[in-house]
Amino acid sequence: MNELNLKDKVAVITGGAGIICSTLARSLAAQGVKTVILDLNRDAAHDVAKNIEKEFHVQSLGISANVLGKVSLEEAKREVNSKFGTIDILVNGAGGNSPSATTKVEKMLGTEDENLEETFFGLQIEGFDKVFDLNFKGTLIPSMVFATDLVRKKSGVIINISSMNSYRPLTKIAAYSASKAAVNNFTQWLAVHFSKTGVRVNAIAPGFLLTNQNRFLLIDENTGELTARGKKIINGTPMERYCVPEELTGTLIYLVSDLSKFVTGVVIPVDGGFSAYSGV
Ligand code: NAD
Repeated sequence: MNELNLKDKVAVITGGAGIICSTLARSLAAQGVKTVILDLNRDAAHDVAKNIEKEFHVQSLGISANVLGKVSLEEAKREVNSKFGTIDILVNGAGGNSPSATTKVEKMLGTEDENLEETFFGLQIEGFDKVFDLNFKGTLIPSMVFATDLVRKKSGVIINISSMNSYRPLTKIAAYSASKAAVNNFTQWLAVHFSKTGVRVNAIAPGFLLTNQNRFLLIDENTGELTARGKKIINGTPMERYCVPEELTGTLIYLVSDLSKFVTGVVIPVDGGFSAYSGV
């Protein structure tokens, strides 16, 4: 018996054109899964799908849709169902942070002449909403749209992509931290809600990768060197390096396959020990 039981399954990967999720999609295709690369960026989604078909000789479909637009997702679902049939796996990977939801300073000084614009008080509500919505509602709404297939089939898996911020917030990025904590909470909530339907819901919390969403915080654009924050992350990671996307794929395959049949409602850190380390 093939205990992974993944061949010919259909997976929708949101944010599938991004750095992490294109790698996750490739790892599913390598197991014979038909992948749907759903992304706001149409050209990048089509490119990733085309390359997957070329490399793995398994069907892959690039679709442009917005994870915050229910109608856009429903249209995407109709296209997926007509081309690939019903889906078995949903990976909620679209997400990210933005400078407009990031404070300039880590901690307030508490002095009389402190520039409040650089602190919590300078956060833009619109920026906060944008980041919170993308990560949280961008997980909630696709689950609502695509999981109807899973519940009707009485089988299937949802994987949410969380973050180290979900356990303990990182300085400066209040909206991103709150949104990923909400993703963990929602993972548990939906796992319980679906527990009798045959549908499992779990999450992966990656450690730190250098990607487009965090490069502005971790690499000095003038020198190309790690910023002080970038170095702090290395110091806080017992394995003393950044994660690469390929290191997330083993956990993904475990969670989407029959290897984890009795596992639901968990958030697995893949972090080189970051979440275990007190720094001392
Ligand atoms: P990325 O920017 O490379 O990929 C994100 C993708 O999501 C992009 O292709 C983008 O076009 C797409 N996207 C953005 N908004 C969208 C929308 N409204 N609808 C549909 N698609 C949309 O980022 P990444 O670093 O690969 O991040 C992927 C996931 O991993 C995110 O959820 C992120 O929060 C999480 N994560 C990243 C890190 C890291 O260190 N990079 C760490 C932990 C978790």
